[in-house]
Amino acid sequence: MNERDEPKAVPADPTQWSEKSKRSVAFEFTREYEDIRYSCWRCQSEAVFSASDQKHTFEVRKANISQQRILCEPCWKESHRISVELAHYDEQWAASNAKLRTDSAFLNQWLDLLTLSETYAFKHDTAKKNMLKNRRRLNSIHATGLRPVAGADVEG
Ligand SMILES: [Zn+2]
Repeated sequence: MNERDEPKAVPADPTQWSEKSKRSVAFEFTREYEDIRYSCWRCQSEAVFSASDQKHTFEVRKANISQQRILCEPCWKESHRISVELAHYDEQWAASNAKLRTDSAFLNQWLDLLTLSETYAFKHDTAKKNMLKNRRRLNSIHATGLRPVAGADVEG
């Protein structure tokens, strides 16, 4: 390992942390931040939570000190985009689910996005997925409600 690979350290000022972080055990012993190397949970690429990024995250953005990075930068950005989009689906649903409940395209896209979100370490929203699957199943029963009975003459 050459010198460039040595973890870089940045002095920590825990008095700048969030109130919750100040009550943590880490408050007593954190004197500096060091680069943290990890593999992205989703794509397995090597990533670094740099010392200076940690200082900004915990002292400026006041993130909880126990928060850990599990996604690399590109995956984290994509996961953020997904969470914004999911919130948009929730809003649309809250505003007009009476209309959207029969909109198969909407239901499918929402379900796909929920499934995709799980690959970015989002909590699995099983209840919502089941609701969408049931909704979709009911819609397909409605859609095929007039299907010809077996053996009926088919035009053509
Ligand atoms: Zn990644």
